[in-house]
Amino acid sequence: SSERAKERGMAYYKPSRDSYSAGRLTMVSKLQQALANNELELHLQPKLNLASGQVAGLEVLIRWPARQPSVCADEFIMLAEQTGLIKPLTRWVLERSLQIRSCLLEHGHVLDLSLNISPANLREPDFPDFVNRTMNAHPGHVGAVIFEVTETSMMQDPANALTALNSLANAGIPVSIDDFGSGYSSLSYIKQLPASEIKIDRSLITDLVTGEEDRVIVQTTINMCHSLGYRVVAEGVEDEATASLLKGMGCDMIQGYLLSRPLPLEQMLVWLAQRQETAVKQQLPG
Ligand code: C2E
Ligand code: MG
Ligand code: MG
Ligand code: MG
Repeated sequence: SSERAKERGMAYYKPSRDSYSAGRLTMVSKLQQALANNELELHLQPKLNLASGQVAGLEVLIRWPARQPSVCADEFIMLAEQTGLIKPLTRWVLERSLQIRSCLLEHGHVLDLSLNISPANLREPDFPDFVNRTMNAHPGHVGAVIFEVTETSMMQDPANALTALNSLANAGIPVSIDDFGSGYSSLSYIKQLPASEIKIDRSLITDLVTGEEDRVIVQTTINMCHSLGYRVVAEGVEDEATASLLKGMGCDMIQGYLLSRPLPLEQMLVWLAQRQETAVKQQLPG
């Protein structure tokens, strides 16, 4: 059904997405101003290792809080991609993320950060160079900043994406394939990528408890990814039943509202501290 198609993120028509509407042009210039005025924010969502019960890392998700009416990340990122603004935006995201990771380290939290990278960034000839220089200037973060790229986005220009990701991998950037299962890429292509992690799309996780078909697809995906040497993350996990099902299926990590919604840094520090406190209490005898 079309509802199902929407859930699975397939193309559907939305008038606000017309390329040349006046509203969009206004939004582009406002987004540009927001970036220049430091009005964009990065929120953080934890990723949990199911075997150890430990927080393994945080995904960085962009927000535009001052924008009225509010507009979701998907929508203004798409706009940034279509207008070239994604280049300075992603550079800001990387630099700000390194500051965030330093702050986390100061608070005793040694965590990986996952950043979302647009396919347009992979087409910038100087992107790997920029990343390389930035990481070299902050050697303490090398290996701990993961780049997430969506499966579908790479299929626009698979050969170029492969070259760019190889350059990034050489610069010490682990790669994660985001929204896996929402597109139609071939496994023979995915297999060539220097990726270490696969994130199963939320559309396959949402109905996992009740949907027998989705369970078969997810279990097969986990097994296949493990055979190919990838770590598997399930995204969009909202309840305990889904989490324990995934644990039983051998999934490595989960992410979703069950743990926490994406939070600003200050609130994430509180969340992490509370979690540590609970863990310590549970270890106490009696
Ligand atoms: P994504 O990378 O697949 O991120 C996961 C999205 O699912 C996020 O939406 C997150 O808030 C949401 N989510 C997490 N757990 C749950 C859950 O349990 N249930 C439900 N219903 N949703 C959950 P968000 O933050 O609106 O971001 C949407 C997309 O925008 C991201 O999808 C990513 O593709 C893109 N995006 C976000 N930040 C950035 C960025 O800094 N740069 C780029 N290029 N893209 C970004
Ligand atoms: Mg992501
Ligand atoms: Mg995703
Ligand atoms: Mg997504």
